[in-house]
Amino acid sequence: MLDDRKNISAELYRCPVRKRYAWQLVRYGGATRRFTRALAGAAPPLAELQATLRAAEHDTVYYPGAFAAAGVQAADLTRVGELAYFPLLSRATVQARYCDLFSKRVRRDDVDEGWLGVTSGSTGEPVRFFMDAASIHFFVGFIRYLWRLHACGPLPLPWQTGIVLLCTLPRSSIYETRLPLLRGARFRKLHWAEPRAARTLEALAPRVITGDPASLARLNDAIASGACAVRPRLILSSAFALPAALADDLRVRTGAVVVDYYSLAETGPIAHRCTRGNFHVLSAAAIVEAVAGEVVVTNLRNRLFPLVRYRTGDLGALGAGACACGLAGATIDAFHGRRAERFSDRRGARVDPSQLQPLLSKLPVQQFRLEQRRRGEAALLVHGASGALDTAALAFALSRLLDEATAIAVEEQPQAIVRPGEKPIVYRSLLAE
Ligand SMILES: [Zn+2]
Repeated sequence: MLDDRKNISAELYRCPVRKRYAWQLVRYGGATRRFTRALAGAAPPLAELQATLRAAEHDTVYYPGAFAAAGVQAADLTRVGELAYFPLLSRATVQARYCDLFSKRVRRDDVDEGWLGVTSGSTGEPVRFFMDAASIHFFVGFIRYLWRLHACGPLPLPWQTGIVLLCTLPRSSIYETRLPLLRGARFRKLHWAEPRAARTLEALAPRVITGDPASLARLNDAIASGACAVRPRLILSSAFALPAALADDLRVRTGAVVVDYYSLAETGPIAHRCTRGNFHVLSAAAIVEAVAGEVVVTNLRNRLFPLVRYRTGDLGALGAGACACGLAGATIDAFHGRRAERFSDRRGARVDPSQLQPLLSKLPVQQFRLEQRRRGEAALLVHGASGALDTAALAFALSRLLDEATAIAVEEQPQAIVRPGEKPIVYRSLLAE
């Protein structure tokens, strides 16, 4: 267990807000409130799309040439559907033309308050990007929107913990700050490798808990074993598909509304899953298309690093017709996560291995990756095992998922499977496409 602590920086960093507190309210309060209200709208906002295209064409080096090569101009677009005439933007292009995608309007302040990020590379192509500060703060708008949508009651009070972000990623920092745009409530990033993490979480008593399914599986185990009792109003899951069984467990054990949402590091939240299981597009945040089975996103938030018709690498189709939950607008159906994350069964059909997450999360290891290697053969790469690994239940579940007997070979890795700063690639298929 002590080894686990290598995963985190030792000290909790208390980010000072002080002067910036008022500054955040003044500079981003109005925009975040408008964004929160706009999220309730179902129609793709034409004016926002036109402004995004204009910003791309006028203020960047990349887009004028790309639009000209496709024979289009920003001024041509008079209906949202005409976006289909504009050129697609690949991850490789974002990587190669990174500097040319910045708006000429970006100033030193914008860089200081924004975020120069790199994606995890779970599609095999890590991408550098810039997220402006308004887009970062819009996450609070997203929480406020869900809070109201699911009738979660009064918002967190200033002396309460608003949001805890649970983390299991290696070499992660832990910190806390105040959220001026969420009534000044506390934000805390909590790592499961912290000493007494479960007790700390209980003492924080957060109103919102967010994390990926791996960290939420740890939460579920902690509650089930009696190590921790929490009653959040909202639990948010992202990064990869939240298994239905885990969502149900968390719902029953905490009484919280559990929401799976689709988000890109490059853009922020894009869609959220409703009670009927459909992903509803946040139309004020992004316009989503499906091109040859791939989710393509035009980000309406960030005009300082515009992403127009960005190929996400995620597989999905757009839904048709109204959803029984009552929400209008576009939905993403047949949404199965990233290409590299899917396994193929005996008949060659794609299946989602993240259903095995609850079993994998129970393994006494620091890191793991499950690889489908050949028909009937999978490998479990583990790092930092602190006990005997019984993979019988996992092999049984995998065999059922793939509809054929599949043996799992355990391979101990002396090196960390995930490099510092990366999100783990938990599943990988090495079968030929
Ligand atoms: Zn719905």
